[in-house]
Amino acid sequence: MSQLNLQQLHDTEFPVPADMQGNVAITSLSRIYNWSRRSSMWPLLFGLACCAIEMIATAASRYDLSRFGMEVMRASPRQSDLMIVSGTVTKKMLVPIVRLYNQMPEPKYVLAMGACASGGGPFKEGYNVVSGIDQYIPVDVYVPGCPPTPQALLNGLIALQKKIDGQLLTNLDDVPWYGVGPSDAVPIPVLGPDIIDPRQMELIRRQAELAAQGQPFGMRELPPAAITDVEKAKAKMKVKGSAAPAIAASGASEDVDAALAEMRNRKRQEALARKRAMMKQ
Ligand code: SF4
Repeated sequence: MSQLNLQQLHDTEFPVPADMQGNVAITSLSRIYNWSRRSSMWPLLFGLACCAIEMIATAASRYDLSRFGMEVMRASPRQSDLMIVSGTVTKKMLVPIVRLYNQMPEPKYVLAMGACASGGGPFKEGYNVVSGIDQYIPVDVYVPGCPPTPQALLNGLIALQKKIDGQLLTNLDDVPWYGVGPSDAVPIPVLGPDIIDPRQMELIRRQAELAAQGQPFGMRELPPAAITDVEKAKAKMKVKGSAAPAIAASGASEDVDAALAEMRNRKRQEALARKRAMMKQ
C-alpha cells in the first residue's frame, strides 16, 4: 500500500519549516481533490484478447497495481471510473463495451491498451474488427504495443494520473460533470450484417439512396466533423427553445465556435441556477 507523501501535495508557494514537512502540507482544494481521485481509480474488470493477459500481469504481485491505488478492479461499471480496453475490439463486443461505458458514473476515463484497441492493430480492416475504440467512445490515453508490456501499461496509467492532476475544479471545461452534468450517453451501435453507428444513420440513408439510383455513393465518406458540430449545436439550441444563429449557411468555423461557446455558457448558467435552487431547499 502506498505511503502518504505530504510533499506530493504541498504547494511550494507556501513555505513550511523543514522539521514540520512530514506532518504539514499547504495545498489547494483542486490539488487534494485530484490527488485523491487519481490515487484511487477503480478499473473495470474485463479483458478482450491477448493484451488482457498483460493487464492481468500488471495487476499481479510483480508489477503491483495497488501502488497506484488501482488494485480494486470492479466487476460492475457502476463502481468503476477507468475502462482499460485491453485487446481486439470485435464488432460483436463493441455493443456491450459502449453499453458498459454509458453505465460508468462521471468522472470516467478510458485507456486504449495496445494496437488493436487503439486502431485495429494487426486485424485493422478485418471484417469483424473495429478500427479503434475511439471511433465510438472518447479515449484519454493510448498505450502502443502488441502487446504493450506491463511497464508500458503502468506508464499509460501514470500519464492518466498526470492528466487528472491537471484538471482544475475552477475550470468547468475540465470537470464538466460539476458544471453541466454528465455527458450525453453514447448511442449504442446496432449489430446487423455489419456494425451501424446510429450517429451516421443519416449518411447511411443518403448512401443507400444513391446506391439505389445506381450512382457512386462514396463508401469511405465520413461526416465532416465541422458539419456534425453545427448540427449538434443547432439541435441543442432548438431543444432549449432559443433561436439558433444562422451558422449552417456560412459554415464559418468562428461562427460555430461562438455558437458552441454560447451554448456551453448557457448550460453552465442553468447548472449553477439549479445548484443554487437546491442549496436554498
Ligand atoms: S494489440 Fe496485439 S497483443 Fe494486443 S490484442 Fe491486439 S493482437 Fe493481441
